[in-house]
Amino acid sequence: MSETKIIASDTNKVTPETKAARPTWKDAGKVHAGEQPFTYPLKREFVEPDWRRLPGYRNVTREEWETALWQRRHTVKNLKELKQVFGGLMPDTLMASMERDIKERATMSILVPPHMLNTMEEKDLWNDPVRRYMLPAFDDRHPEWPSHPKASRDSLHESDMWAVEGLTHRYPTKVLAELLSTCSQYCGHCTRMDLVGNDVPLVVKLKFQIPQKDRYQQMLDYLRVTPSVRDVVVSGGDIANTPIATLEEFCSKLMDIPNIKDIRLATKGLIAIPQHFLQADVQAGLDRLAKKARERGVDIAVHTHVNSARQVTPLVAKAVQSLLDMGYRDVRNQGVLLRGINDTQKELLDLCFMLLDHGKIMPYYFYQCDMIPNAEHWRLAVHEAQQLQHDIMGYLPGFATPRMVCDVPFVGKRWVNQVKEYDRHLGISYWTKNYRTGIEADDAEALTRRYEYYDPVYTLPQQGQEWWRNKPVPPNLSK
Ligand code: SF4
Repeated sequence: MSETKIIASDTNKVTPETKAARPTWKDAGKVHAGEQPFTYPLKREFVEPDWRRLPGYRNVTREEWETALWQRRHTVKNLKELKQVFGGLMPDTLMASMERDIKERATMSILVPPHMLNTMEEKDLWNDPVRRYMLPAFDDRHPEWPSHPKASRDSLHESDMWAVEGLTHRYPTKVLAELLSTCSQYCGHCTRMDLVGNDVPLVVKLKFQIPQKDRYQQMLDYLRVTPSVRDVVVSGGDIANTPIATLEEFCSKLMDIPNIKDIRLATKGLIAIPQHFLQADVQAGLDRLAKKARERGVDIAVHTHVNSARQVTPLVAKAVQSLLDMGYRDVRNQGVLLRGINDTQKELLDLCFMLLDHGKIMPYYFYQCDMIPNAEHWRLAVHEAQQLQHDIMGYLPGFATPRMVCDVPFVGKRWVNQVKEYDRHLGISYWTKNYRTGIEADDAEALTRRYEYYDPVYTLPQQGQEWWRNKPVPPNLSK
């Protein structure tokens, strides 16, 4: 732009001198899109992978594939069934490594619906991102530090904060209602490994003690007498495993409580078995809930859990669109940052653009993987998450730029840049909070204390690793 000359005029009239001094945009038209560290549009195609390429699904018709019951009946529950799906495409070395993992490391049992298996790259199962987090192998794990010394079951202490069984009251205005302890799929890194899923050789799971009907009643009773709560995350497990009539009844009763203004239904099943959400009875129940929410002025939304761009397929988008058409306020993604799966700028932006452009799912959060036993190979250090936050800024619309968050034990979600102090040698970050959890009503120091979170030891400088080697504390696998 040319230098501006101020021409004084008593009359505010435009004179020939004013016109001559008018600035111009000399550079306009010279700007062009430059080469960027991340390139948009994506090269990735948005297509439903053809399941008939997999030996076990060669003769499966479209009608069968798109039926929820067929997907449930053929959900893979063990290595033998997995081998039948992939046949010769499954390397023997990987089978042996997964077998060893089940005996020595796994905290979740195998449960993967065909739709999800179909999003795996069958020609490179060792490196496929979906396989790496849904079907862990012994050799994926870190050889020296499979667990952090401070890892524990229920690392977020959710059950310590149960107001009634299964209702976690951690934040001032919101609660988490765990309706059930099963899912339509089991993820290797599940933060609720303490409670969710079947027993595995290493972990005997907790079980809800109170009969389901009474538990739900107690949750509703608590919310009726706790007007400070306005927001309920209805989760599990996975609500895809709650019969629709039960889900509808529970959510409908929530909407009758005047203080409840927000309901979020949490389901990874939406992307693992979208067929479930396209069933007529499920659609009818969800539609009635959306209508009642609108009448009552309650916002109802769905939260899902996608970790890899490969998992955004047309069938997922169809299920999402039907929810948006019903009036669900949004479908949002709460992914987990996982090493080797989505820990690069490219992988994260690919995923976010697939969600936004094709899935119509809002990128929302990426959580640090929690400090559960045997999760170290997946976990990132806080500074790595901070770097990823930096690397994705500016590409996505602001409202769709996900926040990288660390779920700090006894604190809750903190944006990774909110760390108060950070010892990079020992990998200990210190966090503060501005509210009391449900168990701290009488704790005078709750708001001044610093709460710790730990980076994976193998990411530390040698000195820091040595410090932890001399302080071995075995991970707590028993309750
Ligand atoms: S869907 Fe959620 S609750 Fe279920 S196993 Fe996966 S992470 Fe855990």
